[in-house]
Amino acid sequence: RMKILLLGKNGQVGWELQRSLAPLGDVVALDRHSTDYCADLLNPTGLAQTVLSVRPDVIVNAAAYTAVDKAESDSANAHTINAVAPEYIAQAAMQIGALLVHYSTDYVFNGSGTQPWAETDIPAPLSVYGASKLAGEQAIAASGARHLIFRTSWVYAARGGNFAKTMLRLAQEREALSVINDQIGAPTGADLLADVTAHAITRLSTSPELAGELTGIYHLAAAGETSWHRYAQHVFSRARAHGVTLKLDDAQLKAIASADYPTAAQRPLNSRLECSKLKLCFDLQLPHWQQGVEHMLTEIL
Ligand code: NDP
Repeated sequence: RMKILLLGKNGQVGWELQRSLAPLGDVVALDRHSTDYCADLLNPTGLAQTVLSVRPDVIVNAAAYTAVDKAESDSANAHTINAVAPEYIAQAAMQIGALLVHYSTDYVFNGSGTQPWAETDIPAPLSVYGASKLAGEQAIAASGARHLIFRTSWVYAARGGNFAKTMLRLAQEREALSVINDQIGAPTGADLLADVTAHAITRLSTSPELAGELTGIYHLAAAGETSWHRYAQHVFSRARAHGVTLKLDDAQLKAIASADYPTAAQRPLNSRLECSKLKLCFDLQLPHWQQGVEHMLTEIL
């Protein structure tokens, strides 16, 4: 029976992984508060010890420092959690021959141009968060451990806070709203990420000879593209179709440029990810982002 170690079990993706990994084998699911084993990413040596004690076949690391703006003034912690901890996890994975699954972000790119980013494009992060995630990817690759790194974008889940929920709350409280319209990407469900992860693990465990060949980075986002402004527009129109009354007047949903909405961290304008490598290597289709958002809205409304 396969043994899977899941780190960060209560994050958006971690929560969905608890569901999607359950049928594959015995899952040891931990978070930073776990007492049986250390799963605090601020304690990389403790984490490596956990890997060596649990001796899993597969490690799935869904824990990360994801507060993008806060990271600008808290770079040491962001670096430890997003770069040093993955390095120690990967080195321990290498020692026991485990497969490491990890997640990264479109924020490793500088967001120039309008073409979707491919895995072969050169990263150039604009933020501390992006740089820390890139350093994590590089440390994993350097460890020699078999690994899958899924770079994704604009993650949401029914559980926890997300952009759609925040917009819905604001639209019930206010008559006018301004939302950024020059960052383009694909909202991607934590459930989709978790399901693709389970599929990829199954593929590698049933064809171990492919593990070496398939090791590496994959872009993984829902199909289609939108801006935050159009995403909000879509959420409002679906909410109304579900019978929700909004205070917001549609004409008062204003589109603004990132430059007019200063944040501590700079975000890429072009967050499009080219996902054909994943589809080809793992024989998968990626559903349109509106399909996943509809599923989430139906759950929360
Ligand atoms: P969440 O913020 O929902 O979850 C991250 C989890 O990591 C939380 O449960 C958090 O725990 C945990 N964590 C933070 N610090 C530590 C620590 N020191 N030790 C142990 N656990 C810790 O993120 P997502 O599920 O959305 O992200 C999953 C992955 O996807 C990450 O690698 C992220 O970088 C990547 N990603 C996310 C995007 C997004 O839009 N959210 C976009 C692109 C990529 P706690 O709640 O206790 O702090």
